[in-house]
Amino acid sequence: MVQHFKPISLIELLELKKSGFKTKEPCFHITFDDGLSEIYDTVAPILMKRKIPATFFINTDFIDNKNLFYRFKASILAERVEANGLLEVTFNEKEQTDEFAKTLNIDFNEYLEKVKPYLTILQVKELINQGFTIGAHSQNHPLYCLLDEKEQINQTLESINYLKKEFGLDYSVFSFPFTDDGVSKSFFKAIEPQVDLTFGSAGIKKDSVKFNLQRIPMEKNELAEQLIKTQYFYCFLKKLFGRNKIVRH
Ligand SMILES: [Zn+2]
Repeated sequence: MVQHFKPISLIELLELKKSGFKTKEPCFHITFDDGLSEIYDTVAPILMKRKIPATFFINTDFIDNKNLFYRFKASILAERVEANGLLEVTFNEKEQTDEFAKTLNIDFNEYLEKVKPYLTILQVKELINQGFTIGAHSQNHPLYCLLDEKEQINQTLESINYLKKEFGLDYSVFSFPFTDDGVSKSFFKAIEPQVDLTFGSAGIKKDSVKFNLQRIPMEKNELAEQLIKTQYFYCFLKKLFGRNKIVRH
């Protein structure tokens, strides 16, 4: 991809915003969601070696391994349940997941302590020192269309402000957990004064909200040298924009 598109930094992308994202040459910016520790261990070293700038989007409730994403919890439970021969259990509610874990004697805190799936504050600081940029990915990764607007705004601004304060950032970017589907115009209007750019993952589409950029989700790939194609990898191909448009009401 680097042969055909020029990798640009978030700061360059923010600069492009001023001109309505008009570029002289095809370029892209890479972002990774979910703030997993493999960003620090594996992804960042590869990107640094290849001189590719990137932005990492973090859930502020999970940073430092304070808590686990409920889907993460559910998959741990599912594994355990399967091992016990109880299949076909679905988890809809976060609370249910915690309750069920108790009955199975599963301690998520122990898991967090042992596995440390998320980036720590120290690792994020180091990533920033290495030249990477960070953004918010909400507090606890909810599906936005299931929240009322007040809660959507709260999840967004609280997570942004946490990162700004903790890491002294002079920019504010946000990526939607799961999808920005069904998020209204008035939400964007409410957050606009406090956010530079937001990111969805609807693929090659334009958005009627000018500061909401749609990214191309990349497939997971097991090959180490192609690690930048994991499910946490999203890239933004400026040149390909303009085929479809998401109109918000
Ligand atoms: Zn995510």
